[in-house]
Amino acid sequence: MTNEKVRIRRDIASMSAYTPTTSLDVFAERLGIAPGNLIKLDANENPFGPSPKVIEALAALPNMQVYPDPESGRLRELLADYTGVPAERILCGAGADELIELILQLFIEPGDVIINTPPTFAMYSFNAPLYHARAVDVYRRADFSIDVAAIQQAVERHSAKLVILCSPNNPSGDLIASEDIQALLELPATIVVDEAYIEFAEGGSLERWVGEYPNLIVLRTLSKWAGLAGLRIGYGLFPRALMPHLWKIKQPYNVNVAADLAARVSLLDIEFLRERVRQLVRQRQRLEVAFAELPFLAPYPSQANFVLNRVDGMSAADFRDRLARAGIIARYYQKPRLEDCIRISAGTPAQVDRLLEVLRTIAKNEF
Ligand SMILES: *Cc1c(COP(=O)(O)O)cnc(C)c1O
Repeated sequence: MTNEKVRIRRDIASMSAYTPTTSLDVFAERLGIAPGNLIKLDANENPFGPSPKVIEALAALPNMQVYPDPESGRLRELLADYTGVPAERILCGAGADELIELILQLFIEPGDVIINTPPTFAMYSFNAPLYHARAVDVYRRADFSIDVAAIQQAVERHSAKLVILCSPNNPSGDLIASEDIQALLELPATIVVDEAYIEFAEGGSLERWVGEYPNLIVLRTLSKWAGLAGLRIGYGLFPRALMPHLWKIKQPYNVNVAADLAARVSLLDIEFLRERVRQLVRQRQRLEVAFAELPFLAPYPSQANFVLNRVDGMSAADFRDRLARAGIIARYYQKPRLEDCIRISAGTPAQVDRLLEVLRTIAKNEF
């Protein structure tokens, strides 16, 4: 691949490839099941989809030939109403994923350290080397709570510039205690809190702290609660001093016209979407109760739209395969602290009915 004329970065040439989740079509073909009959509970997507008003608005999407508003001005006004954070401190991106990259671009000079707290969302450590950051892992405890003292030590030892946290954490589902965040905000580092699932949690958003602390960044997304994962729209709540610099480095047209419109229509249909969020929380609670009653699953308490389980008495890979044969796709891990773990997203009531039926069959050892 690399020769005298084509000299790509050596670290990327030798890097192993990131494996995203298998597409539904590939899964369906492998299992011999029609894609429409698969129940996809592996990526925490919203099974209800977007607001019907979004579908209507996008069917009549105007001005596709014109570049989008680089400032996402109208959307940021609506996000200001939604979060209580002034629009001047909100920046939109093509998903929260883009904002993670933007933050790394803004802070990192080659070799700078970021603190990562696995097991957590893989995108932080995946992106770090691409922006020449060194990710230092400070593992969560057995109950997945963060180890504040160890993070404090690591920040000091490495003069870390960023601490990236996820709350509720993906994949464990727990919220970080606000006292823990408060303690970390005293550090000489910027604390980034990814709140992709905060709409499913009871309280706990740090949005009210943005502006009080010069070193707190909160990331949010419309992918999960608003059902817009496929359109790529997220946003960050930032300290005022960072905003001019973020505007300098942001791609001008990062948020496309469809995503911008869909997000605005969603925020105007907020009561409808909140009701769906409540429905998903009820389905998650059903899962937690049902899993706890099964001899081979030990669920961790969740504040998100998914439940992480320790699988007991059978291999987690085997359990995943049994679900797959029944057309249900779950997320399986083979990582430190997640040994024998399976994460299952909350589905529609009918999907959860079917899942529980399959689990009862597995319990009788009939699969
Ligand atoms: C799904 C997810 C995201 C992705 O957000 P996008 O806005 O779709 O890029 C970010 N963080 C966490 C923890 C997630 O699980």
